Amino acid sequence: MKAVVFEKFGEAPTIQTVPDPKPAADGVVIKVEATGLCRSDWHGWMGHDADIRLPHVPGHELAGIVVAAGKHVTRWKAGERVTVPFAVGCGHCFECTSGNHQVCEHQSQPGFNAWGSFAEYVAIEHADTNLVRLPDEMEFATAASLGCRFVTSFRAIVDQGRVTPGEWVAVHGCGGVGLSAIMIASSMGANVIAIDLTEEKLNFAKKIGAVATINASTTPNVVKAVKQITNGGAHMSMDALGHPTTSFNSIANLRRRGRHVQVGLMLGEHARPQVPMDKVIAFELEILGSHGMQAYRYPAMMEMIRHGKLKPELLVGKKISLNEAPAALMAMGGFEGIGIGVVTKF
Ligand SMILES: [Zn+2]
Ligand SMILES: [Zn+2]
Repeated sequence: MKAVVFEKFGEAPTIQTVPDPKPAADGVVIKVEATGLCRSDWHGWMGHDADIRLPHVPGHELAGIVVAAGKHVTRWKAGERVTVPFAVGCGHCFECTSGNHQVCEHQSQPGFNAWGSFAEYVAIEHADTNLVRLPDEMEFATAASLGCRFVTSFRAIVDQGRVTPGEWVAVHGCGGVGLSAIMIASSMGANVIAIDLTEEKLNFAKKIGAVATINASTTPNVVKAVKQITNGGAHMSMDALGHPTTSFNSIANLRRRGRHVQVGLMLGEHARPQVPMDKVIAFELEILGSHGMQAYRYPAMMEMIRHGKLKPELLVGKKISLNEAPAALMAMGGFEGIGIGVVTKF
């Protein structure tokens, strides 16, 4: 099969012909029909992820068609249209059996500790636990765009952030994660403040539900601005970018008993950011992470999509071919344009 391969961290990936994958006894092989481009692929390529063994095929936001299933797979067969969370749970550890597959102790992550979906085919383990059936009307590109940023934001807002109608939600950073969070929090009835450095993204944030915006490039004190708009601070706030400044602001702009959810990755030199711990204690703040979403939580989100309450297709950006993927991957270190780039031609 054709695949995007990198042999050294930070050196240009190339298109290569590699052996077709075979399904594990409890796994499947999926013909990839769409795969999203994500900043975490860029982090992986830069060598920020200790799980990656070289040579490596990146890609973890995928949708496609099952072409082969191992002998122990009971729920899936060739021909079915599927997607999969980026953290693939083993189904047997304590976390999985208690319903928390997204933090499985033995999780496999295609595109990180296994070869990923920047390829014609990808092998996925533990298929019965992790595959998600796609609604007939959902395009593969939309399904792929859910894989990481959208589902992580869904879990961050709904399950971790526990956002309720009427609450103030601040979203720091309006890339793929941030825009997803804005759409989801708005659909839950929250009042959302979008914060970014560019007017273009803030205008888009308004179109998908933000009630207020803050341009951090022209606002000297973002925390103060959030507190003014919300009359005391946000109930829930998210760092959707993953930067020491946005992470700090997201915690500091909370009102008493507020919840901060960290979704933007903090890796390399940013892995240990400053936290206003004095405020965490005095205000009884909660600091939470969100790491993907369990396959069994997808149906709730899919129903909201089916009825038009969530429109992830609005967040799909440029569609490109696999041949264009190496250059696009290397460019992910810069700031994203609006929308999630997706490879749709293989
Ligand atoms: Zn597990
Ligand atoms: Zn991703």
